[in-house]
Amino acid sequence: MATQLQIARAGTITDEVKLVARTESLDADLVRDEVAAGRLVIPANKLHLKTNLRAIGIGRILATKVNANIGTSSVSSSIEAEIEKMEAALEAGADTIMDLSTGGNLDNIREQLLTRCPAPFGTVPIYQVIQDRNVEDIDEKIILRTIEKQARQGVDFFTIHAGVLKEHLPLLESRVAGIVSRGGALLAKWMLYHNKQNPLYEMFDDLCGIMAKYDICFSLGDGLRPGCIADATDQAQIAELKTIGELTGRAQEAGCQVMVEGPGHVPFDQIQYNMEIEQQICNDAPFYVLGPVVTDIAPGYDHITSAIGGTAAAFYGASFLCYVTPKEHLGLPNAEDVRAGVIATKIAAHAADIARGLKGAAERDRLLSIARTNLDWKTHLAESLDPKTAERMHRDACKEIGADELPSADYCSMCGRQWCSVRINKEIREKIKNK
Ligand code: SF4
Repeated sequence: MATQLQIARAGTITDEVKLVARTESLDADLVRDEVAAGRLVIPANKLHLKTNLRAIGIGRILATKVNANIGTSSVSSSIEAEIEKMEAALEAGADTIMDLSTGGNLDNIREQLLTRCPAPFGTVPIYQVIQDRNVEDIDEKIILRTIEKQARQGVDFFTIHAGVLKEHLPLLESRVAGIVSRGGALLAKWMLYHNKQNPLYEMFDDLCGIMAKYDICFSLGDGLRPGCIADATDQAQIAELKTIGELTGRAQEAGCQVMVEGPGHVPFDQIQYNMEIEQQICNDAPFYVLGPVVTDIAPGYDHITSAIGGTAAAFYGASFLCYVTPKEHLGLPNAEDVRAGVIATKIAAHAADIARGLKGAAERDRLLSIARTNLDWKTHLAESLDPKTAERMHRDACKEIGADELPSADYCSMCGRQWCSVRINKEIREKIKNK
């Protein structure tokens, strides 16, 4: 019944470690050692592994991973729509899926999604805990029952907001946006009503027991993450991070795998500090960040504001980027928004992987550039991060210049034939070669 962390600490290489090593072209001993040190996690519920899960790793020695959030809201969506969104996310290259549903039959939605999900699958169990119930009415029994039920369904990682403490709440007074995390806000309301400590903090050892039993990875949630750039890196955020650091150590001690969730909304110049302080406080546990969004004034374009922050975050220390869709702050995303969010975050992750010199990261860029230089449109489009969109745009452009066969076009509508430097360059190279 041991976890990946416990097995790695014992020096053994699991099938999942082997798979991660093979996928990332690394030595299995190195992957095992990183798991043992808590710097790399393989979120893989033993029960999901028995069905359709293909394990992946999250950690600094690996390619930066991308998560897509889906899920119903209490006013919108259906199981069919959520399945469509999950498929769109996986097709666009999402490495993991989180089901954040808060409306409808949550057990059924989760089950339907999990049976179709070969990627690690995460949830925020506190959402189900308060469904059809006032937050004031929840107790430890209800929480444990819900978490155990989701564990048995095969969920691979849980966001647990155990780091928000009662004593952190006065620190929020000077904030512009207060608490923007749903889990954080609900738990704060409970603590104020009962005048007691966060139940998730109080029952943390029990939670570790369930997580270890199924080998579910903790994703220690940042319930006090900044919800606007004016609140970034404030006292409340750092106080919670310190508690998360303490919990990271306790969970790892209990044999559980842990990653840590981070902001949110952060000005570009504060991202490096935010990444470094997490690594310092949380003993290098993989950092999973939401964006971060680097400006608040672009609703409709937050896949872009978050991609800008995501590249910096992954360059300076994050291992895992949660996507943001263009619909962020505006409404529940549909499948097209999900697709746009995943692609934007994949670009952010890949740009960071190139910049931090990850072995082989720039190889695809090289292949595409060679194809571009040779006017080899087929390879050019196939190697792109979003071949569907690239192909559609190129096809439209070909129509404009009257080129019937796409691969034969030796220029495009951007500059025109006489001005196409790629075509001219190709001629120059051939002439030099013939001489
Ligand atoms: S026409 Fe301009 S944009 Fe198009 S392939 Fe040639 S150089 Fe590139």
